[in-house]
Amino acid sequence: MNDILLTVKGLKKSYGAVEVLKDISFDLRRGETLSLIGPSGSGKSTCLRCVNYLEKPSGGEIVLEGEHIGRVRTGDGRERTMTDRELAPQRSEIGMVFQLFYLWPHLTVRDNVALASIKSGRLSKAEAYELAEAMLEKVHLRHKAHEYPERLSGGQQQRVAIARALAQQPKLILFDEPTSALDPELVGEVLGVIRELAEEGRSMILVTHEIRFARDVGDRVIFMDGGVIVEQGPAADVINHPAKERTRAFLGQVG
Ligand code: ADP
Ligand code: MG
Repeated sequence: MNDILLTVKGLKKSYGAVEVLKDISFDLRRGETLSLIGPSGSGKSTCLRCVNYLEKPSGGEIVLEGEHIGRVRTGDGRERTMTDRELAPQRSEIGMVFQLFYLWPHLTVRDNVALASIKSGRLSKAEAYELAEAMLEKVHLRHKAHEYPERLSGGQQQRVAIARALAQQPKLILFDEPTSALDPELVGEVLGVIRELAEEGRSMILVTHEIRFARDVGDRVIFMDGGVIVEQGPAADVINHPAKERTRAFLGQVG
């Protein structure tokens, strides 16, 4: 039984002449939480966005359960990049939670969570609402189902965004600094939900500056700097006993 869910191999990304990701390779095992840490501008967001082809990689491959993300083999045996339409089913297998929540202000919380399942025709309206309420329960906001986002705190809005990602029933969830836009007193409730998801065995990649959280909740940590992986390993090893000077210097600044 192959327990590798995601393989990122030789991932590269350039913007013009600037190489932002240089040969990034790592695996994510099923049920694992991987934290991606590193200084601002090191390429963490770009890496996440390449995993679900929000950005088209300049090189390398992304393989989710044996399926090449964003690539399709044509009749003559060659490969090309998928169109957005072809990508949609693959993207729906990968949930994404951003720093800003991007909820629809004119929709209730429940409608925000149910929208994608209804629009895609994947579920009936009744099924989508049932799923939405179950996912809101997971983030402890079922009682807010009929509120509008503006009536919620930032922490609650981010939990709604997490429920929305869960409603896709994704194989993998990517979090890009999900607590960075929050007032400090609201960070804990969002991290608490992410911790519960980790404990129930979700497969997740989390970009975060919450180093203690990465150590305590993450199974593994990748430290990136300048578009390369400087070091990766079990969370406690990398954070408590970094092998590389660059990692030590970074942890010294943020810790
Ligand atoms: P991080 O998330 O670690 O802060 P990013 O992945 O956002 O880093 O950015 C890595 C580098 O790529 C930065 O130098 C940034 O300026 C550059 N970059 C990101 N997106 C673009 C873009 N769309 N066009 C040009 N440069 C970009
Ligand atoms: Mg970023």
